[in-house]
Amino acid sequence: ILRDKGVVEWKYATCGYCSTGCAIEVGLDAQGTAVTTRGVADAPVNQGKLCIKGITEAGILNAEGRGTEPLLRSSIQQPWETSSWGDALDTTAAEFKRIQAKYGRDAVAIVSTGQILTEEFYTLGKLARGVIGTNNYDGNTTLCMASAVSGYKRSFGSDGPPGCYDDFSHTDCLLAFGSNLPEQHPVIYWRLKEALEKRKFPIIVVDPRVTMFAQFADIHLPITPGTDLVLLNSLAHVILNEGLADEDYIAAHTNGREEFFELVQRYDPTTAARITGIDEDTIRNVARLYAKAGAAMSIWTMGINQSTHGSDGVCAINNLNLITGNIGKPGGTSLSITGQCNAMGTREWSSCSGLPGYRVLENEQHRDEIGKFWNVDPEFFPKQRGLFMTDIFPAIESGQIKALWLIATNPMTSMPNTGRIRKTLEKLEYLVVQDSYVDVEATQYAHAFFPASVWAEKDGCFTNTERRVNRVTPVTPPLANSKPDLWIFNALAKRWDQADAMNFPDKASDVFEEMKALSVGKGPNGRERMLDISGMDHDKILAQRGIQWPMREGEETGSPRLYTDGVFQFPDGKAKLLAMEWKDNNEKPDQDFPFWLNSGRVVEHFHTRTRTGKVGNCNKYSPTAYMEMNPDAAAELGVEHMDYVRLVSRRGDAVVMVQLTQRVPYNMVFVPFHFHDCVNRVSLGLLDPHSRQPAFKQAAVRIEKVDQL
Ligand code: SF4
Repeated sequence: ILRDKGVVEWKYATCGYCSTGCAIEVGLDAQGTAVTTRGVADAPVNQGKLCIKGITEAGILNAEGRGTEPLLRSSIQQPWETSSWGDALDTTAAEFKRIQAKYGRDAVAIVSTGQILTEEFYTLGKLARGVIGTNNYDGNTTLCMASAVSGYKRSFGSDGPPGCYDDFSHTDCLLAFGSNLPEQHPVIYWRLKEALEKRKFPIIVVDPRVTMFAQFADIHLPITPGTDLVLLNSLAHVILNEGLADEDYIAAHTNGREEFFELVQRYDPTTAARITGIDEDTIRNVARLYAKAGAAMSIWTMGINQSTHGSDGVCAINNLNLITGNIGKPGGTSLSITGQCNAMGTREWSSCSGLPGYRVLENEQHRDEIGKFWNVDPEFFPKQRGLFMTDIFPAIESGQIKALWLIATNPMTSMPNTGRIRKTLEKLEYLVVQDSYVDVEATQYAHAFFPASVWAEKDGCFTNTERRVNRVTPVTPPLANSKPDLWIFNALAKRWDQADAMNFPDKASDVFEEMKALSVGKGPNGRERMLDISGMDHDKILAQRGIQWPMREGEETGSPRLYTDGVFQFPDGKAKLLAMEWKDNNEKPDQDFPFWLNSGRVVEHFHTRTRTGKVGNCNKYSPTAYMEMNPDAAAELGVEHMDYVRLVSRRGDAVVMVQLTQRVPYNMVFVPFHFHDCVNRVSLGLLDPHSRQPAFKQAAVRIEKVDQL
């Protein structure tokens, strides 16, 4: 097959889709065109494996819809005109300055992504915080990982997943919450299966739906949506009351036991069974299994994060692992499986939530450090973080924000209540869309379009779920007049006078050296900073096929785990056991809207299909949205397999084809979220108070038959 494709050369990159971080090689033909991909056999993450998205990834480089030239227009009613980069950047800088002069600095907002390279995130942060000076800068990671970030910070004092994939090879019990590994992260699932072939240990999957992962599990807990905090508090109740907790670890490494113990007394298994739908004996048995395992680990994804209490759910998972002493040891961890290929890079270095290197705007010392390093007056920085992505759109609606710069993000498909987003974008005085694909939906409402290079046309790094910094090298030159995001950020920065006094390196390796310099120093606990990458450089990262931070200067390899010494990132070094009361604040099925609506992913597609929607096999195997429905519920409504139905909520409606399956219970339907004008027209926009992440998975809907399309 490879010979048929005429491959004459293989070039190294890292997959640009999900956060697994598979090492990939792109095959080039004699003309230098990317024609295929293969996994890198000696890469520690994937050992040669790729999923369908990685295998077909070469197709996205030359896919239909690639942006090739900058575009400009004076209003969204006008047709697009091709522009030079100079004019596009001059016009955008002039519009941002005009709007800031008239309405204030924060009237310009920036929403970025988890897709671009870490060096690009760092440079964008410098531009946003140090030059443009808006405080309304966030990323689409608020739609997927914000609750994990918030929960890690509240429990451990810092973001940063403490575990790694190798923990599967050491654990004695795996508890998965709202995570469908086989479809969401197929290569991590393969790592798990590989570990299980060598050593059997129980897998417990908590999910309201019978997912592929639930089918594979030893124990499936089909929980009532939105009640995971009750289950977690109840597991802690059993462990603490039956004397199964690791009291030595609790005493040495945590604060808050007393208050936490008092709270979980209210979550006895009988009460929890009534709320969660999981019978009380099962709750007791799972708690005992977890606590008695030599090492036990928890993983989770969107089932926990995308909730009105996602941050509390993450803290509750951390509580479970703290009381059983399962943090920082092989096989014992709280591992959030992240979403996008560089969701971690944006968390670490982008300045979305504050300042680079896990620094925060609220800390005077952090503002001073970065101000001095960038040659920016620290007084220029705001003293607290601005709006999250999910609050930026309401602020546009209310007239507080007048200009928006969207970078590799597609809110018209990904945000809840997308009908409202369309009307919101129409209100902007100036919208810039920066994307590799000109046909991304938001371009319809833009005044400028910046064509960005795709991942394998650029140079830099991604960080994966297990903190592994991986290299991306330029496999082919940028298509036509598209430019790497780093080039675009640097070129735009030069349109402001204050950038003259700052350093904006053109080379990704030079940007990386700046990040290294910022990664050293003392952390909040008086020890060396946790996010220390001073021992890495681009060549070492490539040679080792990825390195996990921290890796300090003089060290030869990275660190698979955090908190191995039980010292956390609070000033006293102790983690927090947090007492969190469950609040019944979700929308729930009722007489008018009798079904739970659950949303999620399919293996063939990534996010809003801007790329996988254009790749032959991904689109061929998953060409359209569908709705899983229980056959008994369908029979009562007279709905048959492959009928079209209207899905209706209090927000809107969408027409979708029915797939009858026992995977969903009688009162639940499931729709993949990837498709435009579909499930997010009806999904729920309620936000978590800590992370501002939307509760995508817990809405109430009704089903109406559609007689004619
Ligand atoms: Fe890419 Fe994720 Fe698939 Fe690996 S599992 S090939 S990183 S999409």
